[in-house]
Amino acid sequence: MLEMARPLLVNIAMLFSVLFIWNMVMPFTRASSINLKEKLIYGAISSVMALLCMLFPLETFGDTVFDLRVVPLILVTLYGGKLPGIICTLTISTGRLWMGGENAWVGVLIAVIGFIIASSFGPYFRKSIRKWKGILITGGVFILSYIVILILFLDPLQPYFYPIYFTAFMIAYFIIFYLTERLVMINIQLQETVYLEKLSVAGKMAAAIAHEIRNPLTTIKGLLQFISSDTEDSKVKNYAPLMLEEVERTNKIITDYLMLIKPTKDNYEQVDLNKVVKDTTALTEVLASYYNVKIHYEEKGEFLIWGNSQELKQCLINLIKNAIESIEGEGLILVALQYGTKKGTVDIVIRDNGAGMSEQELEKIGLPFYTTKSKGTGLGTMITNRLIRNVGGKVHYTSAQDVGTTVTVTLPIIKQ
Ligand code: ADP
Ligand code: MG
Repeated sequence: MLEMARPLLVNIAMLFSVLFIWNMVMPFTRASSINLKEKLIYGAISSVMALLCMLFPLETFGDTVFDLRVVPLILVTLYGGKLPGIICTLTISTGRLWMGGENAWVGVLIAVIGFIIASSFGPYFRKSIRKWKGILITGGVFILSYIVILILFLDPLQPYFYPIYFTAFMIAYFIIFYLTERLVMINIQLQETVYLEKLSVAGKMAAAIAHEIRNPLTTIKGLLQFISSDTEDSKVKNYAPLMLEEVERTNKIITDYLMLIKPTKDNYEQVDLNKVVKDTTALTEVLASYYNVKIHYEEKGEFLIWGNSQELKQCLINLIKNAIESIEGEGLILVALQYGTKKGTVDIVIRDNGAGMSEQELEKIGLPFYTTKSKGTGLGTMITNRLIRNVGGKVHYTSAQDVGTTVTVTLPIIKQ
């Protein structure tokens, strides 16, 4: 029995070390889709993990080899999708057939079954918030199928072997997934910290210049209006509106920026979200109808949160404006207020049927100065993110090109 402990530890140690090196080279995230190159690399690394496991089997009974090769296979299929899973399955199968023996095909069958189970739970797993459910179900279904295959196709082994092997398998399986989830969480936290740092640097920079620029701008604007009001000079008459417009634009950028510096928690109070959303949709309806866009909001009961209604309105205006601007021709924006998926939270959902965004564009949204509009400032979403984070909330985007975008703002509800 004890002689199984050593190869088991070797198996687990190899899986861990490859996992950590893997995360160092390509930090794990929750990216909803990985590109082809990454998929190929995922497939290659998991194949290496599986082959290493096969090099040091826990136990060999005649022609039958037991090791943890299916753990990296399930891992990569759940997180990376079908292609890396197929690569890993092919590697395992080839390796097993090459090792030979009468029962080699059983090894191949188990790998294929592992792949089929993991890839059928994969889409659900990648979408779900509670990853442990998916991990548990996939592991459970696989172990059951594994046992059935062993009973059907192999001569019975010593009875002590089954509990030891499957316990070892489950332990390794759960530790590997636990570590992967931890690494993903750590990477996300790191990204978040870097993003918050960016926001705060942008805010401080703005504080230094915004006030200084605003005063001379006001003077310029006033003088321009004064000069152009009763002039005969055609040049001044022609160009003054443009100049005023540009001064306005500069002013707007600075005002947007000041929003970034200003937020303090001193002016926080109990806010009814239903009222905030109702006011905002009413406020933006004029702009929307100018663009042939309808805004629909179905009123809900009271949702109380802690924050500042002015700032919250500003956030929603930014988001709804973006939705309006993304729509070409006629459009519809659906605004909804509902309980969040996490307990004690409320979601404001803003859905448009506009141009949508690609994966690459989605990644950049919220970064300072990222804009695709000729007259955009690239500050709206960033300010929204900052204000929403200040009240302990989160902004989440999902989007499909030519279909539309859904923005979900999740906020903590005040406990009654
Ligand atoms: P701006 O609106 O000034 O461009 P934002 O920070 O508000 O700056 O938005 C940044 C970019 O994100 C926009 O230029 C646009 O490309 C994209 N974007 C934001 N919201 C949406 C949306 N609802 N639909 C499509 N694209 C959007
Ligand atoms: Mg905007």
